Amino acid sequence: MAAQTHLFLCLKDNFGVLLHDPQSGATASIDAPEAAPIEAALQRTGWRLTDILVTHHHADHTQGIGELKARHHCRVVAPRNEAARIAHVDRAAGEGDTVKVGALEARVIDTPGHTAGHIAYFFPADKIAFVGDTLFSIGCGRVIEGNAEMMWQSLIKLRGLPDDTRFYCGHEYTKANIRFAKTIEPNNKALAARAEEVDRLTAAGQFTIPATIGAEKAANPFLRADDPEIARSVGLAGAPAWKVFAEIRERKNRS
Ligand SMILES: [Zn+2]
Repeated sequence: MAAQTHLFLCLKDNFGVLLHDPQSGATASIDAPEAAPIEAALQRTGWRLTDILVTHHHADHTQGIGELKARHHCRVVAPRNEAARIAHVDRAAGEGDTVKVGALEARVIDTPGHTAGHIAYFFPADKIAFVGDTLFSIGCGRVIEGNAEMMWQSLIKLRGLPDDTRFYCGHEYTKANIRFAKTIEPNNKALAARAEEVDRLTAAGQFTIPATIGAEKAANPFLRADDPEIARSVGLAGAPAWKVFAEIRERKNRS
């Protein structure tokens, strides 16, 4: 049976998302930014929390874990390379590991850069990916603990997922990301189309995610750093893609 998801906001602009396996009744919270809205989402859906799948150690992704675990006795899965920095971890997971939520099966992908041990969870049967703060719609996370080359490699891995993969990211930053992306690729038609779609969604009071990897590849400048046009437009014709990526990221930091 197909996985079900439920998306909501936590804190100021963090996404909370529940993943539910209708067959077993198992439900995972992807990260735990804040306990109260996650509890409210569980009430609304009637789902029982069995797992928390953590993408990285930042407080705005982990600070709800203690309260949720105390109440639901759920299992906490966290990135192997930073599990020591996260409280209440039951299982550490890294590249190539399989993590189950009931009958749903995720493949773990190491995506370092934003943090040194950041991971993503890809559920191939449902083509759903939870990418934390590595990839945002029309943007990407800040490179905080890793370096630009590492982050670029992580983004390439996510870009390699099937085009019809729907991805859920950690923050609702899409509108600001689009404003910046237009400064890099003012004539990108896919980006213009995404901007219109996002205006429509926002006007209707809807979230801008999930987006698909296929649509994102066409419009997100951070996934397009190996396009010679983009290299030229940032004055780095012929430079390696990760350097072009680093330049785009640097410009975004200053924007
Ligand atoms: Zn973060």
